[in-house]
Amino acid sequence: MKNELINDTSCSWINDLDPRKNIKILKKNDDCEWLIVGAGYTGLSAARKLGQFYPNQKIILIDAQLAGEGASGRNSGYLVDTTLNDGFTSNKAMESYKKKADIYELGIKIVKKFIKEYQVDCDWNECGKYFASSRKEDRKILTNFSNTLSQLGYKHNLLTNNELLKRLGTNFYNIALHTEGGILLHPGKLVRSMIDVLPTNVFLYENSYLLKWTKNKDTIFCNFKNGKIKTKKIIFATNGFLNSLGIRSNYNFPITLTASMTRTLTDKEFKSIGEPKEWGVLPVRPMGATIRMTKDRRILIRNTAEVHNPFHMSKIELNRRAIKQRIGIKKRFPQLPDDIIQSSWSGIVSRTRNSSQIFEKIDDSIFVAGCYNGSGIGVGTLFGEQIAIKASEEKTKEIETIEARNKPTWLPPEPFLTLGVKTRLIYERIIARSEV
Ligand SMILES: Cc1cc2nc3c(=O)[nH]c(=O)nc-3n(C[C@H](O)[C@H](O)[C@H](O)COP(=O)(O)OP(=O)(O)OC[C@H]3O[C@@H](n4cnc5c(N)ncnc54)[C@H](O)[C@@H]3O)c2cc1C
Repeated sequence: MKNELINDTSCSWINDLDPRKNIKILKKNDDCEWLIVGAGYTGLSAARKLGQFYPNQKIILIDAQLAGEGASGRNSGYLVDTTLNDGFTSNKAMESYKKKADIYELGIKIVKKFIKEYQVDCDWNECGKYFASSRKEDRKILTNFSNTLSQLGYKHNLLTNNELLKRLGTNFYNIALHTEGGILLHPGKLVRSMIDVLPTNVFLYENSYLLKWTKNKDTIFCNFKNGKIKTKKIIFATNGFLNSLGIRSNYNFPITLTASMTRTLTDKEFKSIGEPKEWGVLPVRPMGATIRMTKDRRILIRNTAEVHNPFHMSKIELNRRAIKQRIGIKKRFPQLPDDIIQSSWSGIVSRTRNSSQIFEKIDDSIFVAGCYNGSGIGVGTLFGEQIAIKASEEKTKEIETIEARNKPTWLPPEPFLTLGVKTRLIYERIIARSEV
């Protein structure tokens, strides 16, 4: 196991927020009934639920960095209802897609309930999302996808260049499918609100990296740099870092993404692109760019996904990726200045071979939830809550829906895994090269 996780401090979403106060680091030994490792959407939701379930028990939530400042605070902010596919040839494949969409629907519901209950302002906008491409030949993929959505009753529209220019302010895209159900939000504000409402019996330790854990009889022993924690039950909510902790290592692997955000466009710049309303585009080709116009007229772009050391990306490496992002913005908005990017950052997600999530009881006292690909805002919030319920030996309809999905499939060992993933990413990069 590695012994530190060093993130950049340059993510615009996080820098929009007030700096946190009262940060507690684990400096001596402690013990608890429940330990949750990882304080992103998953861990925070699990902690909130356990805190409500067991007001008299001690629950510790611990993170290697500041809570919420992993992928949960640095993603693109799409709360998704659907993911793209290019049509199905069998009922079985359609059924499997439907099961995935059912989970997304539950994810949206739970985030919506959370923001209503706690009156959270996270720039929530039910404006849907676009799957867009500059390539006219991608009409075929989108038409097949449209058939899938029609069969499942999702409202959507196919749009072409002129309409897209009006809506997005760029004539880069030739064809798009707009789904009405997706939501755009500010991921930093959402995750911060989850930290702010933690129940009082949840003890939050930050900047405290779990080095090693073992189980002996009914107790789990966890070693951190400056202290140890003994616990009766543990929930692993470290997503892209499950693998590094030896959790389901043959079923998940980390992928590093990088993104950049511009400063707020001036009135003149905004006018030059037609003053569009907030929008979010996802690529038709998996390695193409995710690009979004925020509520406050900033442009976010994410156009890299790679196998990289998940513990650290140097400033030089990050700057190299930011150049790709500058080019991506320039391709779509040539009238905007070159030096418009305000911040660039990296973040870690977890993938499985067949895109199924992990939601598991490993034994009576060890539980894990993660691997949401690009849907962790909703699904992570859902899985965190539901894994806490499962660990409490309760049953819910949501757990039934989650467990109805296919389980993740086995991955080959190293070095074959990295080689296979890198080859696949290179292939996808080639077919998406015009969309980056
Ligand atoms: C650039 C980018 C764009 C994305 N876009 C979207 C999007 O638009 N929509 C969407 O739904 N999802 C998106 N995602 C994915 C989404 O952010 C994740 O699925 C989600 O944040 C997962 O939440 P989590 O709580 O499970 O994990 P995380 O937020 O990654 O939290 C895990 C935590 O575990 C901690 N940890 C790791 N190892 C240890 C250890 N040894 N000891 C202690 N703590 C540890 C980490 O510090 C981290 O804070 C994106 C991700 C990135 C990086």
